[in-house]
Amino acid sequence: MSIKMTKFGGSSVADAVQFQKVKRIIEADPSRLFVVPSAPGKRFAGDDKVTDLLYLLYAQYNSDANYSDTFRKICDRYTGIERDLGLHTDIQSELDAILKNLENGASEDFIASRGEYLNALLLADYLGFDFVDASELICFHSDGTYDDETTLRWTQKLENMTRLVIPGFYGRKRDGSIKTFSRGGSDITGAIIARAVHADVYENWTDVPGFMMADPRIVDHPKVISTVSYSELRELSYMGATVLHEDSIFPVRKAHIPIHVRNTNEPEREGTMVVPDSYLRFYKRTGTMTGVAGRTGFTVITVYKDNMHNEVGFGYRMLRVLERYNVSFEHVPSGIDTMSLVIADVNLKDHLQQILREIKRDCNPKTVELQSNMALIATVGKGMVRSIGTAAKLFNALYEAGINIRMIDQGSSEMNIIVGVENEDFPEAVRAIYKAFSQDGQE
Ligand code: ADP
Ligand code: ASP
Ligand code: MG
Repeated sequence: MSIKMTKFGGSSVADAVQFQKVKRIIEADPSRLFVVPSAPGKRFAGDDKVTDLLYLLYAQYNSDANYSDTFRKICDRYTGIERDLGLHTDIQSELDAILKNLENGASEDFIASRGEYLNALLLADYLGFDFVDASELICFHSDGTYDDETTLRWTQKLENMTRLVIPGFYGRKRDGSIKTFSRGGSDITGAIIARAVHADVYENWTDVPGFMMADPRIVDHPKVISTVSYSELRELSYMGATVLHEDSIFPVRKAHIPIHVRNTNEPEREGTMVVPDSYLRFYKRTGTMTGVAGRTGFTVITVYKDNMHNEVGFGYRMLRVLERYNVSFEHVPSGIDTMSLVIADVNLKDHLQQILREIKRDCNPKTVELQSNMALIATVGKGMVRSIGTAAKLFNALYEAGINIRMIDQGSSEMNIIVGVENEDFPEAVRAIYKAFSQDGQE
């Protein structure tokens, strides 16, 4: 019999009505034997996500601010689901334990993880499935990075078990302390469990009808991508298509398990299949665009020096400055006399002035130029870069929309052209690129 691992995102498990939809989906197919839920997400625009409330609770508690409102909001979400579904999970004692743990100095990660933990308890009860805690399955190294080797060992206990609910988003270190993935990390949990139970497919149930060619918050009704490769998906997710966490492909890629992105509110729709790169030729004309995604908030430092390409160690000296400040970079576009560092503002923090000073001191450049408030937009499609006219079409679309391109980086990946534009031009630029390429789409 085939096995499906199902992950439900925050809005899919936001209240009792959504729980009912989940139950209908699970019961419609007996191969749906494993369920990974997120914490309750938004029920309507402007609503709170429970994970955000938990981070706030932790911050308020530890700064002696009043946290009672926040705690009450969290309690209401869970007791509401328990009451509306007529469950007797006794979620109130679990909620009270959160306060006890805060008093005993619980970590931020522990508090944040309770969102998924409590929701999984309720969902297991409602579906009549067994609950298995993610802290028994998913391991992190003591430096906080994910430990795949130990996780592979720990998840062996799932062999011969079925009908399980496992909370997303977290695991534990060897010392027992709870550690979460980065935000949106329940997608990674789902992928790890899919691999562990040898699932035939990893169903990722969310609030949109699939992975779209552009962010639906920017482009009106973008086309849904019917099939996308793991690598294209990773590029798009990393660049801002938040529908799937970019790290969620690693566990399933090796095992060749496809990810099927589907809409909890419209389960009849086909959704998007994420497949190995080698399958691409079966569904996609090479050289067409798969999707466009981007993010705002970057700074670009461009260094000019004649004959820089002949100077041994120039790049090393420049990157060493970043290393000293523990700052990572996104891209390093370079030419014979120029080299640029593209850095996300969140990573740059307030080190910019020192970094500029040290680059001048260590690299002795002719000039250093700074561009702030930049957005990066990736136009992604396997084989697209090699296809004649792609770049012209992209640049022409931006030119016609009156958008100034501040940077171009074709990179070494043949499926990605990245342009830098002003933050304020970002939505218009995404719309222009989508419009120029969307007729290529595969809906
Ligand atoms: P979940 O809580 O189910 O994990 P997320 O909020 O993490 O859901 O991701 C789904 C959201 O991703 C959508 O509601 C949509 O606003 C956003 N999104 C951004 N880019 C895309 C895209 N290219 N295709 C689909 N959704 C996208
Ligand atoms: N609840 C977590 C978050 O909001 C994890 C997730 O939803 O995937 O980031
Ligand atoms: Mg998500």
